[in-house]
Amino acid sequence: MTDTPSAPERFLSAYTTLRLGGPAGTVTTAVHTDEAVETVRAAAAAGRRLLVLAGGSNVVIGDDGFDGEVLLLRTHGIEVTGENASGVLVRVAAGESWDDFVSYAVTNGLSGVECLSGIPGAAGSTPIQNVGAYGQEVAHTIEAVHAYDRRAGETRVMSPAECRFGYRTSVFKHDDRYLVTAVDFRLARSGESAPIRYAELARSLGASAGDRVPLQQARETVLKLRAGKGMVLDPEDRDTWSVGSFFTNPVVSAAFFATLGEMPHWPAADGTVKIPAAWLIENAGFPKGFAGAGVAISGKHTLALTNRGTGTTAALLDLARTIRDGVRSRFGVELHPEPVLVGCEL
Ligand SMILES: Cc1cc2nc3c(=O)[nH]c(=O)nc-3n(C[C@H](O)[C@H](O)[C@H](O)COP(=O)(O)OP(=O)(O)OC[C@H]3O[C@@H](n4cnc5c(N)ncnc54)[C@H](O)[C@@H]3O)c2cc1C
Repeated sequence: MTDTPSAPERFLSAYTTLRLGGPAGTVTTAVHTDEAVETVRAAAAAGRRLLVLAGGSNVVIGDDGFDGEVLLLRTHGIEVTGENASGVLVRVAAGESWDDFVSYAVTNGLSGVECLSGIPGAAGSTPIQNVGAYGQEVAHTIEAVHAYDRRAGETRVMSPAECRFGYRTSVFKHDDRYLVTAVDFRLARSGESAPIRYAELARSLGASAGDRVPLQQARETVLKLRAGKGMVLDPEDRDTWSVGSFFTNPVVSAAFFATLGEMPHWPAADGTVKIPAAWLIENAGFPKGFAGAGVAISGKHTLALTNRGTGTTAALLDLARTIRDGVRSRFGVELHPEPVLVGCEL
């Protein structure tokens, strides 16, 4: 474990994909799960504020930083722990790179996470907002989440029902009660993908919805689609200096939707309707490339707000407010941020 590193590393901009965020009080790096648990336990016992950071790809940290202890989760490990007729059980350490795990699954003929290729961050962060893309979400394959419960002071194995997964949310989001230490995924032993559910992906694969395709083909096609939208991290490309989608797609009642007029939408079984935030933003007058001070909407993806290299968190949030308020006044629809905001607010 390393405490209080030299000055540059105290700036949390070094650990976020936005490259934004002021200084931390102290920074501790944990490479073993027991170190991570001990850091969280000790901070809780001492009443110290603690922020867990893994890949830093879903946080917006204020320019004044975080006046407490930051735990950088750098644990590693992928282990097959069982296999039966319903699939192969794989345990992944929380700090393990998510995309390395997806690559491992595809290479080893394990199906169920291939459409989640190219998502930045760590495996243990995926349950936090029930990471999803191209028709898959981790709730489809998570069998259990191993977590340290700061309140009870003990480790727990949580079932998917206890995780309360929803659209880009779970029991873990906006609540620092749990430190996720590992995740168990149940994957099918198959060289073919899960049925393709996402129309754009099916088109790119030359397949129909419901078809299965070779795992590697699914992964490569998803990576290509994502790269075209600036959704694969590339240090040379400032269109990827983001948190991915800044806003979630709003979900409204069918009755309210009926007042909105023609627009793309996805009706859900529970009678609600999901509207693409990107469409609302563009049609409220904010095109790709729309810029603030050192920050801008990505040139490739309307939902990604990017730091162009000279931005600040204050400027990013100003841009986000302008967009949110513009969508509200044009459509009466409220946009909500997808990332976790630390030491700042929208
Ligand atoms: C280019 C780009 C594309 C993206 N595409 C997608 C996408 O397609 N779909 C999608 O869902 N998301 C996407 N994201 C968002 C992000 O990558 C995911 O949410 C990812 O899972 C965050 O992981 P992380 O390790 O970076 O988390 P961090 O940013 O480090 O942390 C996020 C939050 O989780 C908490 N946290 C992290 N690890 C733990 C833990 N072990 N225990 C308890 N709390 C923890 C943190 O305290 C923080 O509140 C994208 C982001 C970028 C930059």
